[in-house]
Amino acid sequence: MRYAMAIDTKKCVGCSDCVVACQTENNVPIGYARDWISETVVGIYPDLDLEIRSERCNHCINAPCVRTCPTGASHITEGGIIKVTPFECIGCGACIEACPYDARFFHPKGYVEKCTFCEHRVKNGQSTACASVCPTHCIYFGNIDDPNSEIAKIIAKRKYKVLAQEAGTKPQIFYLI
Ligand code: SF4
Ligand code: SF4
Repeated sequence: MRYAMAIDTKKCVGCSDCVVACQTENNVPIGYARDWISETVVGIYPDLDLEIRSERCNHCINAPCVRTCPTGASHITEGGIIKVTPFECIGCGACIEACPYDARFFHPKGYVEKCTFCEHRVKNGQSTACASVCPTHCIYFGNIDDPNSEIAKIIAKRKYKVLAQEAGTKPQIFYLI
């Protein structure tokens, strides 16, 4: 089993509902974010387009944040979800430096934090907070190893890309293009 997310850049309108839902669900301190919206101009002139993406930790299969963490605070859990155990984190920042996606931040309480794929909700059979509130239903979350899952089906039929593929981290957020 491997949890992954597909995000449809053709349907994302950049409303930030996913960001607000995450902040509320996960008690993210004011001024910080586990997910964010980015806008990139794509295409070749004159066929240019604005690509809007909801971004977060990519829950990489080959995660440099886990490899560089000296205490084991950053670790891989069931389904490939990458998490940080706060009481094991010494705040050295090695993982923040190692992440090519800038997905981590120092929590004011002294440990590193980031997206957890809402593991607490997923364990209860719910989807992530961001996917649940998206008004255009552009976020697909689930077990990509299950060929009958919504995410596996949409990945099979749509073109997609991952961010910073050259970093070799095998990210598990797929942007439908
Ligand atoms: Fe680690 Fe960054 Fe990959 Fe998330 S996106 S698993 S924090 S390297
Ligand atoms: Fe590990 Fe915390 Fe250091 Fe990150 S800041 S590498 S989680 S001990």
